Amino acid sequence: MKLRLILLMLIMGFATALQAQQTYIHAGALFDGTGEELRSNVTIIVDGDSIVDVQSGFLEPDSQSNLIDLSDKTVLPGLIDLHVHLENETGPNNYLDRFTKNPEDVAFESAVYAKRTLMAGFTTVRDLGGSGVNTSLRDAIAAGYVDGPRVISVGKSLATTGGHADPTNSFKRDLMGNPGPESGVVNGVAEAREAVRQNYKLGVDHIKITATGGVLSVAKSGQNPQFMDDELEAIIETARDYDMHVAAHAHGKEGMLRAVKAGVHTIEHGTYMDEEVMQAMVDNGTYYVPTITAGKFVAEKAEVEGYYPPLVVPKAREIGPLIQNTFGEAYKFGVKIAFGTDAGVFYHGDNAKEFGYMVEVGMPEAEALLSATQTASVVLGLEDQIGSVESGKLADLIAVDGNPLTDITILESVQFVMKKGVVYKNE
Ligand SMILES: [Zn+2]
Repeated sequence: MKLRLILLMLIMGFATALQAQQTYIHAGALFDGTGEELRSNVTIIVDGDSIVDVQSGFLEPDSQSNLIDLSDKTVLPGLIDLHVHLENETGPNNYLDRFTKNPEDVAFESAVYAKRTLMAGFTTVRDLGGSGVNTSLRDAIAAGYVDGPRVISVGKSLATTGGHADPTNSFKRDLMGNPGPESGVVNGVAEAREAVRQNYKLGVDHIKITATGGVLSVAKSGQNPQFMDDELEAIIETARDYDMHVAAHAHGKEGMLRAVKAGVHTIEHGTYMDEEVMQAMVDNGTYYVPTITAGKFVAEKAEVEGYYPPLVVPKAREIGPLIQNTFGEAYKFGVKIAFGTDAGVFYHGDNAKEFGYMVEVGMPEAEALLSATQTASVVLGLEDQIGSVESGKLADLIAVDGNPLTDITILESVQFVMKKGVVYKNE
């Protein structure tokens, strides 16, 4: 009887403590992700994992609550990068990794990249292709085993035989074999459907296809179309049945146009898009995820002897530097832009460099920030949870010193990171 009473009192006490303890954040300036303006002197009230109030002025917390003083900083919603690869990172010996690293080696490594990404202010990422470790990493982060951003995972990218994401490209014949839909290699409508359903069974969130050749695969063309219309339609229709969207890696025009017309949700890289493609994207509501940072990085490393295999070097030289200009043209044309970098192709944690490159070719700072907050949340269909600082949203917040609307590069040194109400960084 006595024990029961004590237990009851403990539980009740715990419940009251939970209810009362809120966190008040004093933000000197706030870019809330709902518009292009900065608000000054704002109090954000966080309860558990959510924002419960956003008020003008600095409200004092009651005795039960905490104060985080960011009154000399600019607070923004946690950033979202729609194109990362958390399983690996660039290096001169990358092409050997598939022979030397076990999935568990990849997993430990990916935990490091995930943490670095979170500390850089990115509280949500869409992982656009790995081995499946990316999907487990998503769950490990969500369960609290690993510090990292919220991960939206596509698992393994889908390609056709010899296509950009065929995992056996360039192997000698007996190692090459003939990978099928379970390895993400599809030919024809039936296999296309099978691979999407297989991915669903593996628990991925969305589907990624390599609609054209790519820069870093050891294959000749970086831009040829690699799917037929019927295969694209089969993938997109099947994905729709499972409430998944399709992201398309694409450099060349023809493959990009086919993918857009078939109904992909996002075009990644988009290097050789012209006005016909841009118009098709506007007509279809397709988002463009530029990845300028990766383009610049591979062009730079192509000049380092032996960094990439010989077949890759000319593609990196030619395609890499074009992406920034394509982005500038697409922005002017009115294509919907959503933030994504291809981190992994360059160093994880450098994701925010993309903002500077976007602004450099004509996108205003506020729009660049919205592309990584509000717009990216809409692309993910998570706009009711993330992407802005509003009552009812998850408490994903970052802070920087200074005004990002006058100097966007300050996003490269994020001082404060909160994800779901937990502080990961406060400098
Ligand atoms: Zn990529």
